Amino acid sequence: MSELDITRNIGISAHIDSGKTTLTERILYYSGKIHKIEEVRGGGDGATMDFMDLEKEKGITITSAATTVYWNDHRINIIDTPGHVDFTVEVERSLRVLDGAILVLCSVAGVQSQSITVDRQMKRYGVPRLAFINKMDRVGADPFKGIKDLQMKLGLNPIAMQIPIGAEADFQGVVDLITQKAIYNRGTQGEEVVVEDCPDELKGLAEEKRMELLEAISMFDDELMANLVEGKDIGVEEIHAATLKGVRSLKLVPVFMGTAFKNTGVQPLIDAICRYLPSPIDAEPMVAKEVGHEEHNVPLEPDPGKPLVCMAFKIQDEEFGQLTHTRIYQGTLRKGDTIINSRTGQKIRVSRLVRMHANNRENIAEAFAGDIIAMVGVDCASGDTFCHAGVNLTCESMFIPTSVISYSIIPTENTQADKLGKALTRFIKEDPTFHVRTDEESGETVVSGMGELHLDVYIERIQREYAVALKVSPPQVNYREAVSRKADFNYMHRKQTGGAGQFAVVVGDIEPIPFDNTDEEDFEFVDYVRGGNIPQEYIASCEKGFRDAIVEGPLAKFPLTGIRVNLRDGKHHEVDSSDLAFRVASRMAMREAVSKGKPCLLEPIMKVEVETPEEFQGNVVGDLSSRRGIIQGMETREEVYVIHATVPLAEMFGYATALRSSTAGKATYSMEFNKYAPLPKMFEDEVVAQQAKRS
Ligand code: GDP
Repeated sequence: MSELDITRNIGISAHIDSGKTTLTERILYYSGKIHKIEEVRGGGDGATMDFMDLEKEKGITITSAATTVYWNDHRINIIDTPGHVDFTVEVERSLRVLDGAILVLCSVAGVQSQSITVDRQMKRYGVPRLAFINKMDRVGADPFKGIKDLQMKLGLNPIAMQIPIGAEADFQGVVDLITQKAIYNRGTQGEEVVVEDCPDELKGLAEEKRMELLEAISMFDDELMANLVEGKDIGVEEIHAATLKGVRSLKLVPVFMGTAFKNTGVQPLIDAICRYLPSPIDAEPMVAKEVGHEEHNVPLEPDPGKPLVCMAFKIQDEEFGQLTHTRIYQGTLRKGDTIINSRTGQKIRVSRLVRMHANNRENIAEAFAGDIIAMVGVDCASGDTFCHAGVNLTCESMFIPTSVISYSIIPTENTQADKLGKALTRFIKEDPTFHVRTDEESGETVVSGMGELHLDVYIERIQREYAVALKVSPPQVNYREAVSRKADFNYMHRKQTGGAGQFAVVVGDIEPIPFDNTDEEDFEFVDYVRGGNIPQEYIASCEKGFRDAIVEGPLAKFPLTGIRVNLRDGKHHEVDSSDLAFRVASRMAMREAVSKGKPCLLEPIMKVEVETPEEFQGNVVGDLSSRRGIIQGMETREEVYVIHATVPLAEMFGYATALRSSTAGKATYSMEFNKYAPLPKMFEDEVVAQQAKRS
C-alpha cells in the first residue's frame, strides 16, 4: 500500500464534557505514542492534547493541534477540532483539512446543542463520520437513545455496529455484530483486547441487531442485498465493503460504544477509523483557485509527482519560531525546498519539517500529498497557501464572520506594553476573527471578536502566558454606521500657500447598498468620469480619499458600511492638482455627503437557538422577547423544545447566566452572527451619548 492509502486525516468532535479529550488520550495511549495515561481533570500534568492550562480549566479545546499516531500499519493524523460556536473559524478551518471524523456522544445526554452546530458544518464540508457513544459506564447509559438522537436530531442514518455487554457500573465490553464475538479489555489500562464468544443471554439480541445492520448496509451493495434476500451467508469482508460505501457516500454513520474513561471499547473504534474512513485518495478532492482569476477552479490531485500545493491551517508561536501546521494537497514538500506564499508572493525556504506527535516531534525530510505535517520557522498567517514556483493557486479563502463585540484593554503597568504587543501580534496571526486596534482619542487598545467567550479566552491567555495584568472594559457592541438615502457631493479643495498650490474638485453622489455578513467594509466605488476632467492618474487617489472617510461615521465614530460612491465629474489644474489634493477633496466630499445622507446606526443581530425542556418554554420565549428578540420558529426534538430567534447582540450580554437561572440549568443555547440591522431610534441616541462620553 502507498503512503496515501494508509493515511487517515480525522477530527474528533463532541459537545463539551462528552469525553473527547479522554478518548483522544486513550487513542494516543493505545497507539503507543504516550506511555502514561493522564487524567483530564485534576492531578498530573493533564491531557497531552490540551497543552494550554486554560483549556483544562474551561474544559474546552481551543487549539486545533495535529497529532500523528500509528495503528496496524496505518498512519492517523488527528486534528483537534474546537467545538464552541464562538470559535467557528477555527472549527471550519480544521474541518477543511479533515477527510473524516468521529462524533462523540455521551450515552446519557445523547445529541446536545453543540453537536448540532458541528454537524451542520460537517455536512457543509461533506465529512464522512463514525459515531462513538461514550460513558457507557454512567447511570442511565443507553446507546440506543444516542442512536435515535442521531437519527431524529441530526437526520443521520446511524446503525449500531455493536451492542453493550452489561450496563452502567457493570458495563464490561461490546459484542461486535459483524463477527458476533464479544470484545473485552483487560490489563490495568485496557491495553489487552480479548475476543471471546458472545455471552448466551445476548445471542438473541446480537442476531437481531446484526440483521438490522445487514439491512441498513444492503442499500449500498446490490449483491449483498440479493444474497440477503436469498438467505445466503454474508461474509465479513462483504459487510466491511458495503459499510465503507455507506460511510463514504455520507449516507451511513456506523455507531460504536464504550467508555474512554474506563478503557473499554476504544480499540475497535480505532480499527473502524482505518477500515471505513477515507484515505486522502478516496476523499473529495480539494478545489483551489487561480490567484487573480478566482473564477478558475482547479481540483487538486493527491499525487506526489505533481507541483506542490499546501495550506497552513493552524499556526502556533513557539520559542524557536513559528510552527505552521500544514496539509499537503498536491505534490511533495521537501526540507530545503523554496516555496511561494500565494497570498504575499513571498519566497520561503523550508529549513525544517516535522511530524507532530502528542508530546514530541520528529524531523522528517519530506512529506507527500494527503499528509499533515508542520513547517518550522516559516512566517505566514493561518489560511495561507504555498506552492512551488510556476503554480499560483490558493485554497479558496475562508468565510470570515464579522466581529461583533469589543473590549478596551489597558495594562495595569506601563512597562508591560511591549509584552502586550507581542501577545496581540501573535493572536492576530493565529486567528482571523480576532482584531486589534488603537482608539485614537483614548489611546486604549481595543480588541474585538466573535463573542464574550472568544475574547475572554484571549484576555486570560494574555494574563497567563504573557504575565500582563490588564484592566478590561465591559463588553461593547460593534455598531456600524450607514446612510439611509442618496446624497450628492460637489467639493472643491483649494489651497494657495506660497509655491505650488493644491486644487481638486470632485462631483458625484453616494447611495446605500445592502450589507452582507462579511467583515469587508461593503464599500463600492464607481468611476463615471469621462473626458479627462479628472485625469485617470488621480482616480485611484480619489478612491483612497473616499475610503479614508469610511473608517469613522459622523454619529458615533463607528465604521461606515453599505455605501456606494458614484464619482461622476470633477475639475483639475495643470500645475496645482496632485494625488494628495484629490485624496483630500474626496475625503471631505464623502464626509459632507454622509451627513446629508441621513446617517443611522446599525446593530449586530444574532441568530440564537435555545434548547429547553417543555416546562420552561414559556420563560425562555418571554425572556427572549423582552430582549427585543423575534421568535423565528419552534420545533420539538424528542422531549426538548427548540426555539429559534434573532436577538440584538446588545441584549445578549450575560444571557448564559440568565438562562441558567430561569431554567434550573436545564436549557442550552448557541448563538452566531446573523446580520446588521438599523438600531431603533430610541436606542440610537443613547449609544451616541455613551460614545461621546467615552471619547
Ligand atoms: P471533553 O470536554 O469532551 O473533552 O470531555 P473530557 O474528556 O474532558 O471529559 C469530561 C469529563 O467526563 C471528565 O471528567 C472525564 O473524566 C469524564 N469522562 C470521560 N469519559 C468518560 C467515560 O467514559 N465515563 C465516565 N463516567 N466519565 C467520563
